[in-house]
Amino acid sequence: MNQSAKNFILSVNCGSSSLKFSLYRTNSLKMELEGTIKNIGNTNGAFSIHDNRHSVLEHKPVYLTNLGDAVTEVIKWFESNQSKYPLSAIGHRVIQGGPKHRLPEVITNELLEILLQQVYLAPNHLPAEINTIITFKTAFKKAIQVACFDTLFHNNMPAYAKDYPLPAKYTNKGLTKYGFHGLSYEYIMKKLARKVPHLKRQKIIIAHLGNGASMVAVKNGIGVETTMGISPLGGLVMGTRPGDLDPGAILFLLKEGNLLYEELDRLLSNESGLKAIGGTNDVQRLLTDEHQNPEAKAALALFCYSAKKFIGALASAIGGLDMLVFTGGIGENSATMRERICMNMEFLGIKLHKQSNYNNDEIISSTSAKVQIRVLPTDEEWIIAHHSKKFIDNY
Ligand code: ADP
Repeated sequence: MNQSAKNFILSVNCGSSSLKFSLYRTNSLKMELEGTIKNIGNTNGAFSIHDNRHSVLEHKPVYLTNLGDAVTEVIKWFESNQSKYPLSAIGHRVIQGGPKHRLPEVITNELLEILLQQVYLAPNHLPAEINTIITFKTAFKKAIQVACFDTLFHNNMPAYAKDYPLPAKYTNKGLTKYGFHGLSYEYIMKKLARKVPHLKRQKIIIAHLGNGASMVAVKNGIGVETTMGISPLGGLVMGTRPGDLDPGAILFLLKEGNLLYEELDRLLSNESGLKAIGGTNDVQRLLTDEHQNPEAKAALALFCYSAKKFIGALASAIGGLDMLVFTGGIGENSATMRERICMNMEFLGIKLHKQSNYNNDEIISSTSAKVQIRVLPTDEEWIIAHHSKKFIDNY
């Protein structure tokens, strides 16, 4: 048995209030176990791990004040199970590495230095991600650490799609449209390639609708337009982020709201979107509440309206539409939200098959519709492991 046959790859995916991780066998990339720490920073935090047969390996309430403490908790678990799950690589989802770092790469001290210099491009995400990497690097010195950037899928957007019409002195500092959810889009395209002949000929929109939400337009197999820009705040209305705003709204908040940078950041990252309108960012709860609560109803209506508008815009960007794919927590699980988004979109060839949609079938379009509509679960952790494996083989 070669070295990698008995080793594992750990994929780490840091969110704002959660930490997801999955363990894969290095040779086969078969998932061995997966876990989460949810509600970090809240008293109702929970740490859970289950294996590939859904047997619970860990399930306990935790109160962890920040992501760093959550990372320490996960590391302790893997340290105490090191003989059972020796790690050959640890792959990290990294929001972005600026214009020059998009391909997956081994995390050296030089790369960490570069990422530290890029913090101003993603001040909300990069500091915590860098700390997570350093903590894992210190704990598992023999494992290769790999950075997988969420921007890669959008690397080939044409200049007219990614350039901001702003003075060069800012755009030269990296103020451009990067796009995110790239690992999710890459996974979906890989999955589609196994199912759909001549995939590259298809004009596709993938809608990743979760707490963070975005869409990408794919033509000739390439992501050519997307809804997020320099940060994951833009585009669609999201759980706690506003999506696209008139730049005048920011000026208004600065002047009339007298907001400082940090306050504005908190408002746009954590207090806007569905939460600002409906009181919560949890779509499942909004759907339960909407009959008694007009704010919940208004929040859901805004979300669906925003999604419809962007489907139209992205279809225009690629000159038509053959396939619409729903993924992410809302896209994968909510037939109601898919139905509302697709309602009155026949003019674009979008027509759901009601029963297939409610059955949560993989293909949910009406047989007569021009656009095929699919539901595909995403797996960012698997794509991180897939990229990380290449570095083990080359080491
Ligand atoms: P994140 O961006 O944090 O990874 P997820 O992809 O897990 O988010 O999506 C979380 C969202 O999905 C929440 O708003 C949640 O309410 C919603 N969601 C999950 N399951 C359902 C469901 N069955 N019906 C409606 N919404 C759902």
